[in-house]
Amino acid sequence: PRIFKNEAALTPEYIPSKLPHREEQLKQLETYFSGFLESPGSMYPKVVLIGRPGSGKTVTSRKFGNYVVRSSERVRYVHVSCFLNRTLSSVLKDIGVQLNIAIPKRGFSTEELLKMLLDMVRDKDIYAIVALDDVFHLVNNSGPHALGTLIRLGEEYVSRGDKYRFGLILISQDLTFRDQLDRSSQSALGNAVIKFEPYTKDQIFEILLARAQEALVDGAYDEEILEMIADVAGVDEKSMDEHRGDARYAIDILWRASKLAEMKGVDRILPEHVREAIKNTLRGIRSDELRMLPLHEKIFLLAIVRSLMKNPNSPYIPFGTAEDEYQMLCEQYGQEPRKHTQLWEYLRDLNTKGFVETRTSSKGMRGRTTLISIPSEPLETLKEELEKIIKGELG
Ligand code: ADP
Ligand code: MG
Repeated sequence: PRIFKNEAALTPEYIPSKLPHREEQLKQLETYFSGFLESPGSMYPKVVLIGRPGSGKTVTSRKFGNYVVRSSERVRYVHVSCFLNRTLSSVLKDIGVQLNIAIPKRGFSTEELLKMLLDMVRDKDIYAIVALDDVFHLVNNSGPHALGTLIRLGEEYVSRGDKYRFGLILISQDLTFRDQLDRSSQSALGNAVIKFEPYTKDQIFEILLARAQEALVDGAYDEEILEMIADVAGVDEKSMDEHRGDARYAIDILWRASKLAEMKGVDRILPEHVREAIKNTLRGIRSDELRMLPLHEKIFLLAIVRSLMKNPNSPYIPFGTAEDEYQMLCEQYGQEPRKHTQLWEYLRDLNTKGFVETRTSSKGMRGRTTLISIPSEPLETLKEELEKIIKGELG
């Protein structure tokens, strides 16, 4: 029996034909950029999209990108992940790559790269709307100045006598990044903000229904199955859970439940499959974000996961235990282990990303130790996911 008719429609990268409950945000984007699209170069529009993870910011921005390309012959759309590109020069290079502009890999300062990019766009007569996704990573990592430079690109044009070549979409979870900018960048950015509220249960249900219709064969699911998933994923008045309202989580559960039904060789998804899928679905950690960590940060995270699994009676493991496990894993993978100080860097990064929690214990004779825990993710799933990614990367 078949469960899937188009499994790709349940993957995170998929851009569905319709985005239920985001029509309003799409319309707003079209409105903010209509002047630029009608007469490129006349202005430098900038818009901020904010909302919790899984509220549809990325997919809506990409969908808008498709609209841009469809409705204008001259304006392009460039989507830059600041999770992947955390420095100004790496953002500039990514913009260059996507616009098919050759920008040298190394040997130039950020100012020089910027100037090259601007010269090339002018010479090639290019216009583009640039979306900087999860822009807080850029600010946290490289400071507010890097973003300020991008926001004030307009000033460069005016002083160089060129037209406005870009429009800007900044995507973030909230507005704290804006408060960190200097005054002139803040005022250059302006006040155009589009909000993405977390999805309610009913909204999640409709999103799931649309995705199920694209992905699954007709008899493979009941609407009640989708309601069951919507109940755990949607926001409600009672629950202040910050993970709620996340469409990614809901779609991931549906995909896992479908996979289980397929594996068991039955012809429809049962409540039991949904329960199992919920147990196995990552919440705060996204697999695409796991994928983007540096290889050795992945191995270190896997070492933390394995150490925690080996000590099932304790919620915490000391840093040293994870470090030992990491050394062992490196040997297994045939990798030269990174230095102690680098592992501390990784830990700090994993902590700011919310992948792990840390605390310092002052107990014991030999002073303070850092303790690590992963309170809210199924370790087995995390382990499998990491092993799969690392294996893929090492070939
Ligand atoms: P964010 O960028 O806000 O974290 P995403 O745009 O990545 O969220 O959305 C998370 C997942 O949920 C993606 O797979 C996306 O396709 C899906 N999704 C989000 N909102 C909708 C919607 N309104 N309709 C259909 N799918 C959606
Ligand atoms: Mg996103």
